[in-house]
Amino acid sequence: MTRGTVLEIRPAALAANARRARELAPGASVYAMVKANAYGHGLTLAASTFSPLVDGFGVALMEEAQALRDAGVTQPLLLLEGFFDRDELLAAAAQSVQLVLHSDWQLALLETTRLPAGVRVWLKVDCGMHRLGFPVVQCGNALKRLAALPQVQVAGVMSHFACADLQQDVMSARQLEQVQQLAAGHGLPFSAANSAGLCRYPDSHGALVRPGIMLYGGSPLAGHTAVSLGLSVTQRLSARLIAVNDVPAGESVGYGAAWTATRPSRIGVVALGYGDGYPRHAPGTTPVAVNGVRTVLAGRVSMDMLAVDVTDIPQARPGDEVELWGDTVSVDEVAAACGTISYALFCQVTPRVRRVIA
Ligand code: PLP
Repeated sequence: MTRGTVLEIRPAALAANARRARELAPGASVYAMVKANAYGHGLTLAASTFSPLVDGFGVALMEEAQALRDAGVTQPLLLLEGFFDRDELLAAAAQSVQLVLHSDWQLALLETTRLPAGVRVWLKVDCGMHRLGFPVVQCGNALKRLAALPQVQVAGVMSHFACADLQQDVMSARQLEQVQQLAAGHGLPFSAANSAGLCRYPDSHGALVRPGIMLYGGSPLAGHTAVSLGLSVTQRLSARLIAVNDVPAGESVGYGAAWTATRPSRIGVVALGYGDGYPRHAPGTTPVAVNGVRTVLAGRVSMDMLAVDVTDIPQARPGDEVELWGDTVSVDEVAAACGTISYALFCQVTPRVRRVIA
């Protein structure tokens, strides 16, 4: 028996989700966010799958942009955090990577660097997220300085929603109004929508939408399942039972004796732990599925193993398959149980987990 811990990646589902993004934002260009190894799905696999279906790609790092160019991607690339220094600015310009300009120090570098013609720049405006971007009142001046640079083409103004995923979203309307006004005032296109904006606020689509999580089958909206939004499951994390033990009532399981059997129990030991990227802090309410039957964790997650309660799955045997997330147990359910988000779970799966392209 091999260890059998596998992350199955499904290109057909990635493609279906890209088509869904297009369908929901028919008037906008769609750039697929493929940063962080395409949310853990594999940068080049995701890019080659999305390529015929989207207009461009978004990355966080110049290294990611370079990897796409090295893989032969010729479509537009957008560097979401801009550039970190002059070398990166030059590298981005050489590779025709569009820049997001968020700070004065970047503008000063742009002004003092000899660049080839046609460097496309999005001006990032801070409409309330207070992470990156020029305050609205400073944008006019920044746009004026950009207009004075003959080698620069201003692509538009960009903003990012802070709360578009929340059920009670009091912020997005205000953010959108500000970015729309700014864009209209300067006769420029705008881009504001992440997956949540794309799915929820058609007015936010503007010239360019920037979906990430929805492409990977995670729900972008609190209170909605991915399936209800027409999204497909793009990855499935599974492992096997390597032992099944009887545990008498009153006995505990695992490190810290954190789980105690309240009845005569059967405990399955699964060959997957935090060394594979499963969240160590997953509580006992976290769902898993053993041979397609749902149950929950029992005790603390170890580095290479975790335990599950199979008392009510009497047929469970060593070698049986356990789904950690995928079709029977959604990644969003696991994330909710663990107090995290699907994004983090996707990004955390470690390289020792075998990837299988389904
Ligand atoms: N745009 C920007 C600037 C981002 O930082 C991100 C992701 O964090 C996205 C778009 C995509 O967001 P989501 O994955 O929620 O669709």
